[in-house]
Amino acid sequence: MRPERLVLVCGTGTEVGKTWVAAGLLAELRGRGHLVAARKPAQSYDVNAHGMHVGGPTDAVRLAEASGADPDHVCPPRRCYPRAMAPPMAAEALSLPSFTLADLVSELHWPDHEVSVGLVETAGGVCSPQACDGDVLGMVELLGPDLVVLVADAGLGTINGIRLSLAALGPVVGRSPVVVVLNRFDEAHDIHRRNRQWLVERFAIDLVTMPGGIGDLVERVTHRGGQAV
Ligand SMILES: [Mg+2]
Repeated sequence: MRPERLVLVCGTGTEVGKTWVAAGLLAELRGRGHLVAARKPAQSYDVNAHGMHVGGPTDAVRLAEASGADPDHVCPPRRCYPRAMAPPMAAEALSLPSFTLADLVSELHWPDHEVSVGLVETAGGVCSPQACDGDVLGMVELLGPDLVVLVADAGLGTINGIRLSLAALGPVVGRSPVVVVLNRFDEAHDIHRRNRQWLVERFAIDLVTMPGGIGDLVERVTHRGGQAV
Protein backbone atom coordinates (compact mmCIF):
# COMPACT_ATOMS: atom_id res chain seq x y z
CA MET A 1 0.00 0.00 0.00
CA ARG A 2 1.47 3.34 -1.07
CA PRO A 3 0.80 6.52 0.89
CA GLU A 4 -1.39 9.14 -0.75
CA ARG A 5 1.64 11.43 -0.90
CA LEU A 6 5.13 9.95 -0.89
CA VAL A 7 7.84 12.42 0.16
CA LEU A 8 11.53 11.61 -0.15
CA VAL A 9 13.89 13.59 2.08
CA CYS A 10 17.48 13.86 0.92
CA GLY A 11 20.35 16.21 1.68
CA THR A 12 23.22 18.08 0.11
CA GLY A 13 25.42 16.12 2.51
CA THR A 14 25.48 14.45 5.86
CA GLU A 15 24.66 16.38 9.06
CA VAL A 16 22.60 19.05 7.29
CA GLY A 17 19.59 18.22 9.45
CA LYS A 18 17.50 15.83 7.30
CA THR A 19 16.13 14.00 10.32
CA TRP A 20 15.42 17.22 12.19
CA VAL A 21 13.50 18.63 9.20
CA ALA A 22 11.72 15.30 8.61
CA ALA A 23 10.72 14.99 12.28
CA GLY A 24 9.52 18.59 12.37
CA LEU A 25 7.45 18.03 9.24
CA LEU A 26 5.93 14.80 10.56
CA ALA A 27 5.04 16.38 13.91
CA GLU A 28 3.48 19.41 12.24
CA LEU A 29 1.45 17.26 9.84
CA ARG A 30 0.27 15.06 12.71
CA GLY A 31 -0.70 18.13 14.68
CA ARG A 32 -2.86 19.21 11.74
CA GLY A 33 -4.63 15.85 11.70
CA HIS A 34 -2.79 14.09 8.87
CA LEU A 35 -2.03 10.40 9.12
CA VAL A 36 1.71 10.09 8.64
CA ALA A 37 4.33 7.35 8.50
CA ALA A 38 8.10 7.52 8.16
CA ARG A 39 10.65 5.08 6.87
CA LYS A 40 14.43 5.03 7.03
CA PRO A 41 15.37 2.24 4.58
CA ALA A 42 18.78 1.71 6.23
CA GLN A 43 20.68 3.56 8.93
CA SER A 44 24.17 3.53 10.32
CA TYR A 45 25.60 5.21 13.39
CA ASP A 46 28.53 5.36 15.75
CA VAL A 47 28.69 3.14 18.82
CA ASN A 48 30.99 3.22 21.84
CA ALA A 49 33.18 0.40 23.14
CA HIS A 50 30.11 -1.16 24.82
CA GLY A 51 28.13 -1.21 21.60
CA MET A 52 25.89 1.61 22.79
CA HIS A 53 24.76 4.17 20.24
CA VAL A 54 26.45 7.54 20.68
CA GLY A 55 25.28 10.97 19.59
CA GLY A 56 21.67 10.88 20.77
CA PRO A 57 18.75 8.81 19.49
CA THR A 58 19.06 7.12 16.09
CA ASP A 59 17.23 8.56 13.09
CA ALA A 60 14.68 5.75 13.32
CA VAL A 61 13.93 6.60 16.97
CA ARG A 62 13.54 10.30 16.20
CA LEU A 63 11.31 9.67 13.19
CA ALA A 64 9.29 7.14 15.21
CA GLU A 65 8.74 9.65 18.00
CA ALA A 66 7.62 12.31 15.55
CA SER A 67 5.26 10.00 13.68
CA GLY A 68 3.96 8.01 16.67
CA ALA A 69 5.36 4.68 15.51
CA ASP A 70 7.63 1.83 16.56
CA PRO A 71 11.29 2.52 15.61
CA ASP A 72 11.58 -1.06 14.32
CA HIS A 73 8.85 -0.25 11.81
CA VAL A 74 10.67 2.89 10.72
CA CYS A 75 13.92 1.01 10.08
CA PRO A 76 14.04 -2.80 10.30
CA PRO A 77 16.62 -3.89 12.92
CA ARG A 78 18.56 -5.85 10.31
CA ARG A 79 19.06 -2.61 8.36
CA CYS A 80 20.59 -0.82 11.37
CA TYR A 81 24.36 -0.83 11.11
CA PRO A 82 26.49 0.20 14.11
CA ARG A 83 29.29 1.75 12.09
CA ALA A 84 29.44 5.42 11.12
CA MET A 85 29.73 5.09 7.34
CA ALA A 86 27.29 4.80 4.42
CA PRO A 87 24.95 1.84 5.16
CA PRO A 88 26.22 -0.52 2.40
CA MET A 89 29.82 0.25 3.38
CA ALA A 90 28.97 -0.30 7.05
CA ALA A 91 27.45 -3.68 6.13
CA GLU A 92 30.65 -4.59 4.30
CA ALA A 93 32.86 -3.41 7.17
CA LEU A 94 30.80 -5.46 9.63
CA SER A 95 30.92 -8.55 7.35
CA LEU A 96 27.13 -8.48 7.05
CA PRO A 97 25.27 -9.44 3.85
CA SER A 98 25.16 -6.80 1.14
CA PHE A 99 21.81 -5.46 -0.04
CA THR A 100 20.46 -3.74 -3.14
CA LEU A 101 18.23 -0.74 -3.70
CA ALA A 102 15.50 -3.16 -4.75
CA ASP A 103 15.88 -4.95 -1.39
CA LEU A 104 15.38 -1.67 0.46
CA VAL A 105 12.38 -0.66 -1.63
CA SER A 106 10.75 -4.08 -1.22
CA GLU A 107 11.17 -3.77 2.55
CA LEU A 108 9.23 -0.50 2.71
CA HIS A 109 6.03 -1.77 4.30
CA TRP A 110 3.54 1.01 4.93
CA PRO A 111 0.80 0.75 7.57
CA ASP A 112 -2.43 -1.00 6.58
CA HIS A 113 -4.50 2.08 7.22
CA GLU A 114 -4.60 4.93 4.74
CA VAL A 115 -1.50 7.12 5.15
CA SER A 116 -1.85 10.63 3.79
CA VAL A 117 1.87 11.44 3.91
CA GLY A 118 4.58 8.78 3.83
CA LEU A 119 8.10 10.08 4.30
CA VAL A 120 11.32 8.28 3.34
CA GLU A 121 14.56 9.64 4.77
CA THR A 122 17.68 8.70 2.86
CA ALA A 123 21.24 8.58 4.20
CA GLY A 124 23.97 11.16 3.54
CA GLY A 125 23.86 13.25 0.37
CA VAL A 126 22.18 12.63 -3.00
CA CYS A 127 25.17 10.71 -4.40
CA SER A 128 25.94 8.83 -1.16
CA PRO A 129 25.70 5.02 -1.37
CA GLN A 130 22.35 3.69 -0.10
CA ALA A 131 22.88 0.09 -1.16
CA CYS A 132 25.60 -1.94 -2.90
CA ASP A 133 24.18 -0.97 -6.30
CA GLY A 134 23.05 2.61 -5.97
CA ASP A 135 22.68 5.98 -4.32
CA VAL A 136 19.81 8.36 -3.53
CA LEU A 137 19.37 9.05 -7.25
CA GLY A 138 18.65 5.37 -7.85
CA MET A 139 16.24 5.33 -4.94
CA VAL A 140 14.37 8.33 -6.37
CA GLU A 141 14.07 6.50 -9.70
CA LEU A 142 12.73 3.36 -8.04
CA LEU A 143 10.29 5.08 -5.68
CA GLY A 144 9.00 7.88 -7.90
CA PRO A 145 8.15 10.15 -4.96
CA ASP A 146 5.47 12.83 -5.27
CA LEU A 147 7.84 15.40 -3.79
CA VAL A 148 11.57 15.50 -3.15
CA VAL A 149 12.71 17.61 -0.20
CA LEU A 150 16.38 18.58 -0.50
CA VAL A 151 17.73 19.70 2.86
CA ALA A 152 20.72 22.04 2.83
CA ASP A 153 22.67 24.13 5.25
CA ALA A 154 22.06 27.88 5.15
CA GLY A 155 25.67 29.02 5.42
CA LEU A 156 28.83 29.31 3.38
CA GLY A 157 29.12 26.77 0.56
CA THR A 158 25.47 25.91 0.34
CA ILE A 159 24.89 27.38 -3.14
CA ASN A 160 27.43 24.94 -4.54
CA GLY A 161 25.96 22.00 -2.63
CA ILE A 162 22.39 22.82 -3.67
CA ARG A 163 23.19 23.40 -7.35
CA LEU A 164 25.23 20.21 -7.63
CA SER A 165 22.49 18.24 -5.90
CA LEU A 166 19.75 19.68 -8.12
CA ALA A 167 21.86 19.02 -11.23
CA ALA A 168 22.22 15.39 -10.17
CA LEU A 169 18.53 15.04 -9.27
CA GLY A 170 17.27 16.67 -12.49
CA PRO A 171 17.53 13.61 -14.77
CA VAL A 172 15.94 11.22 -12.25
CA VAL A 173 13.08 13.14 -10.64
CA GLY A 174 10.94 13.10 -13.77
CA ARG A 175 7.91 15.22 -13.04
CA SER A 176 8.38 15.04 -9.28
CA PRO A 177 8.78 18.55 -7.92
CA VAL A 178 11.68 19.42 -5.65
CA VAL A 179 11.65 21.86 -2.76
CA VAL A 180 14.87 23.02 -1.14
CA VAL A 181 15.00 23.55 2.61
CA LEU A 182 17.58 26.05 3.81
CA ASN A 183 17.98 24.61 7.27
CA ARG A 184 19.18 26.32 10.46
CA PHE A 185 18.34 29.60 8.72
CA ASP A 186 18.97 32.72 10.77
CA GLU A 187 17.33 35.88 9.43
CA ALA A 188 19.93 37.93 11.34
CA HIS A 189 22.79 36.20 9.52
CA ASP A 190 23.95 38.16 6.47
CA ILE A 191 25.29 35.14 4.54
CA HIS A 192 22.07 33.21 5.16
CA ARG A 193 19.91 36.02 3.79
CA ARG A 194 22.20 36.55 0.79
CA ASN A 195 22.30 32.83 0.03
CA ARG A 196 18.50 32.69 0.03
CA GLN A 197 18.22 35.74 -2.19
CA TRP A 198 20.86 34.48 -4.65
CA LEU A 199 19.25 31.05 -4.97
CA VAL A 200 15.76 32.43 -5.45
CA GLU A 201 16.61 35.34 -7.75
CA ARG A 202 19.35 33.82 -9.93
CA PHE A 203 18.13 30.26 -10.13
CA ALA A 204 14.43 30.53 -9.36
CA ILE A 205 14.76 27.73 -6.83
CA ASP A 206 11.66 26.91 -4.80
CA LEU A 207 12.99 27.31 -1.31
CA VAL A 208 11.71 27.33 2.24
CA THR A 209 13.70 28.23 5.32
CA MET A 210 13.65 26.31 8.57
CA PRO A 211 12.81 26.48 11.38
CA GLY A 212 10.57 29.47 10.54
CA GLY A 213 9.11 28.07 7.33
CA ILE A 214 7.54 24.86 8.61
CA GLY A 215 4.13 26.11 7.44
CA ASP A 216 5.51 26.70 3.94
CA LEU A 217 6.95 23.20 3.88
CA VAL A 218 3.65 21.66 4.98
CA GLU A 219 2.00 23.63 2.17
CA ARG A 220 4.39 22.12 -0.42
CA VAL A 221 3.78 18.63 0.92
CA THR A 222 0.01 18.80 1.11
CA HIS A 223 -0.75 21.05 -1.87
CA ARG A 224 1.57 19.53 -4.43
CA GLY A 225 4.05 22.38 -4.27
CA GLY A 226 7.70 22.49 -5.22
CA GLN A 227 8.89 22.82 -8.76
CA ALA A 228 10.44 20.85 -11.61
CA VAL A 229 14.24 20.97 -11.81
MG1 LIG B 1 19.42 11.68 9.49
